[in-house]
Amino acid sequence: MNDCAFCRIVADEAPATKVYEDDHLCAFLDIRPITRGHTLVIPKRHAARLSDLDAELGARVFRLGHRLAAAVQHGGLAADGANLLINDGAAAFQTVDHVHLHVIPRKHGDKLRFVKGLVLRRPHDPESTAAAIRAGIAAKDQGAQP
Ligand code: 5GP
Ligand code: ZN
Repeated sequence: MNDCAFCRIVADEAPATKVYEDDHLCAFLDIRPITRGHTLVIPKRHAARLSDLDAELGARVFRLGHRLAAAVQHGGLAADGANLLINDGAAAFQTVDHVHLHVIPRKHGDKLRFVKGLVLRRPHDPESTAAAIRAGIAAKDQGAQP
C-alpha cells in the first residue's frame, strides 16, 4: 500500500464518510467541506494526475459526479445546483495527489455562505449529510429510465 491518503480511504485503512462505492469508484464527504454535502469522487485505482488516469475511468468519475450533482438536488440536501471541479496539478492547487472530482452543492443566494465556507471549511454533521446524499442517489436511480 502506498502512502496516499485517498488510497487508504479506499482500502478502509483511514476513516471517511462514504456515500457511494462500486468496483471502480468511491465517493466520500470532503473532510473540510466548502458547503454541506461537499463530496469527492475518486477512482479506486491510484492515479496522481489526470495524465495518469485511464480515459474510460475518467469518464466513470465524471458520470458519478453527474449522478451526485442530481442526488444533492433531489435528496434531503435540496440543493439548487452544484460546482463540479478537478484541480489537476500543484499549479491548479491540487493538494492530494490522487485524482478527485469535487461536487459542491449550491443554493440560490448562497454567495456569502459559500465564501464563508471557503474560509472556514468546517464539517457539518457527516452522518445526516451522507444519508441525505444516499437518499438522493436512490431517488434518482428509482426514477431513471432503464
Ligand atoms: P484539492 O485541493 O487537492 O483539489 O482538494 C483536496 C481535498 O481533499 C480538500 O478539499 C481536502 O479538504 C480534502 N481532503 C484532504 N485530506 C482528506 C482526507 O483525509 N479525508 C477526506 N475526506 N478529505 C480530505
Ligand atoms: Zn491514491
